[in-house]
Amino acid sequence: MSSAQQVRRGRFITLEGIDGAGKSTHLAFIRDWLANRDVDAAFTREPGGTPLGEKIRELLLAPDTVVSLDAEALLAFAGRQQHISEVIEPALAAGRWLVSDRFTDSTYAFQGGGRGVPFERIRALEEWVQRGLQPDLTLLFDLPLEVAAGRMSGTRQLDRFEQEAADFHQRARDAYLRRAAAEPQRFAVLDASRGIDEIQADIATHLRHLLERR
Ligand code: ADP
Repeated sequence: MSSAQQVRRGRFITLEGIDGAGKSTHLAFIRDWLANRDVDAAFTREPGGTPLGEKIRELLLAPDTVVSLDAEALLAFAGRQQHISEVIEPALAAGRWLVSDRFTDSTYAFQGGGRGVPFERIRALEEWVQRGLQPDLTLLFDLPLEVAAGRMSGTRQLDRFEQEAADFHQRARDAYLRRAAAEPQRFAVLDASRGIDEIQADIATHLRHLLERR
């Protein structure tokens, strides 16, 4: 290599699943696991991840927002484009790992599966906005709706998606599983109905593989 040494590109990890699947819980574990191995990693989320994205997040999650199906998908991808150009690409190019709580598979699951936006439209936006960018690893926390709902039952006010009926979440779960089946090399489907330790042992195995991958 020349003096203008090429930095090895970072890895891009996304966490997916229906609400209550355990993404936040396992994000903390992933943060510690990477820190213990001196991996330079940043943590982000969608919708959100940038000042613009966080404003879009507020709009998308507010229970009183009135938005059409297509406008919802477009807002998700507008925030994503900003996220990629402002945060994700610069971090990966600088060799950092980036872990995102939700990414494009969420749009396929919730706007596609949940609301019925045709997958071809989402694919067109994905190609436009991502230009080939895909996560190196997507951890899909999969579990029955009833288990997720039971874990979430608290006093917190539910957001616009959490307020949707069970069949919406069932369609989202099904859409996730179809995507995972179509891209088995990118996805790790984890049975999230198990205990936290068991799930995290699996997560560690996948992280180790990614760390060792040339
Ligand atoms: P998400 O971020 O995917 O919505 P959370 O991580 O907030 O989900 O988890 C929802 C709730 O379920 C939290 O109270 C969390 O402590 C609990 N929880 C997460 N994973 C498990 C698990 N494997 N077993 C039991 N409870 C869990």
